[in-house]
Amino acid sequence: MIRLYDSARGSVVPLDPRDEGAVSIYLCGPTVYDLPHLGHGRHALVWDTLRRWLTFGGLAVRFVSNVTDIDDKIIARADAEHVGEDEITATYEAAWWDALDALGVARPDATPHATAYVDQMIALIERLLALDVAYECEDGIYFDVSRVADYGLLAGQPLESLRAGARVESNPDKRSPLDFALWKNAKFAEPSWSSPFGSGRPGWHTECVVMSLGLLGDDFDLHCGGLDLKFPHHENERAQAVALGRPFARHWAHHGWVMVGGEKMSKSLHNFTSLTDLLAQTDARAYRLLVLRSHYRSPIEVSPATVADAERALARLDALARRFALPALAGEGLEVASGVVWGDEGLALYETVEAAMEDDLDTPSAVAALFEAATRANALADEGATARATELAAALNACCGALGLRLIGDESALDAETLRLVTRRDQARAQREWAVADRYRDDLVARGWVVEDGPGGTVVRRA
Ligand SMILES: [Zn+2]
Repeated sequence: MIRLYDSARGSVVPLDPRDEGAVSIYLCGPTVYDLPHLGHGRHALVWDTLRRWLTFGGLAVRFVSNVTDIDDKIIARADAEHVGEDEITATYEAAWWDALDALGVARPDATPHATAYVDQMIALIERLLALDVAYECEDGIYFDVSRVADYGLLAGQPLESLRAGARVESNPDKRSPLDFALWKNAKFAEPSWSSPFGSGRPGWHTECVVMSLGLLGDDFDLHCGGLDLKFPHHENERAQAVALGRPFARHWAHHGWVMVGGEKMSKSLHNFTSLTDLLAQTDARAYRLLVLRSHYRSPIEVSPATVADAERALARLDALARRFALPALAGEGLEVASGVVWGDEGLALYETVEAAMEDDLDTPSAVAALFEAATRANALADEGATARATELAAALNACCGALGLRLIGDESALDAETLRLVTRRDQARAQREWAVADRYRDDLVARGWVVEDGPGGTVVRRA
């Protein structure tokens, strides 16, 4: 079984699923009030990679990721634009799925929306009030973190030191600055729901605990998200489950930051670049490769240089796919290893990739093995060892598919006009008609392709 760094234990441990042969995963999803940024792209790709890999190994993965469609930021944007909250959430949820589809991220098995679970959240808050773990303030209901003995487990700090480091509290009703809102009483003209404790809306931390337990059940396997969610969001989700006596996530995993220009990607740093912008200018597969080339817990630097480098690397794999006429895998569907016929060359590659992936999702080592295999497959083919080369190339393609990296070698993947221009250019070059070949290259460039000369002829990729 795969070993992952568990943020609650502070060490790499084997994933120990509740049900044999199955893995249940909850990933905190987006708050849909703006275009997704680069960090969201990494967030989606890292956990898509884990999901694909576990599925490839034959596990039945149930993957749930929510959509937060009620939040202060949504209300603020709706106010600023003089439109309804529904319009904001519909617009930005559509942008979210567009970006994730472009990245080849498989859709979750369930995408619960917070606004569809308000009744269950109210019921949970009522139970916490009945247990005296929650209390009422002027502006809503709060959770008393001192009632959870191991509060601070995910933060890696005991309650006392968290309390010492907490911001000065502006709400004088709260017992501790660490206490968090379960329910926010309605302010004027805000979306609200009626409840036994007055009209209002639930807090974010309550949303995820209700939806994860509701859809995956007590004691589900893995709760994941970005490092920025570890504390307080995940700590507070967990605190509510603990207070209710319900076994929560068996494992916790968190991924690292996206850096832009050496700084942590954040809107407040004014270095916000939307994922939507990036995908309009780049082959989405290059961003996946860029993410795969870093360990998920390390920061990654996203810059024109690192993206261009990933594009060049991807072009090498695409050229291999063209040379060996490999089918494009890793589309909408998730690949399964049992469907692959491995020969000796291929099995050795698979075992190397597997060892890396099972060791805390070491994708950089897995990707390095794939590039070494590409070099070896080309060398074998050059030497005339066609059968072994073809077998290794097919295994490489299967492993890329397992990581969600779709190689485009089949010319039918190109549109008919692009394919015609590529073929004409190759014919012109074969006849040494350089000026004609250059005209076809210009036509391809005008259609938005970067044109390169691969071992098998013209290779095109998106600019
Ligand atoms: Zn969450």
